[in-house]
Amino acid sequence: MKDIRRQVSLQCPTCGKTDFQFDEPEGPSGIVTCASCGRQLRRDELESYNSELIEAAKKEVVSEAKKELEQMMHRTLRDAFRGNKFIKIR
Ligand SMILES: [Zn+2]
Repeated sequence: MKDIRRQVSLQCPTCGKTDFQFDEPEGPSGIVTCASCGRQLRRDELESYNSELIEAAKKEVVSEAKKELEQMMHRTLRDAFRGNKFIKIR
């Protein structure tokens, strides 16, 4: 199965850039600093600003997984019926 993971680049709500410094401690309440405009916000705030991006990436992964699964089933079916001249699977 191919790799269908997606990486989401979080965007700064102020300038839209994706370079951040993640200060300790890590985790949802860690402070994130935008490398471009210097805006500081909490990690969970940054993620909520980017929730649409994250949701879109999730949907993409799900649809990729479905596609992959369908192809696998198709291959399995095709192999199962191989040699049977009465059934043709396209
Ligand atoms: Zn910024």
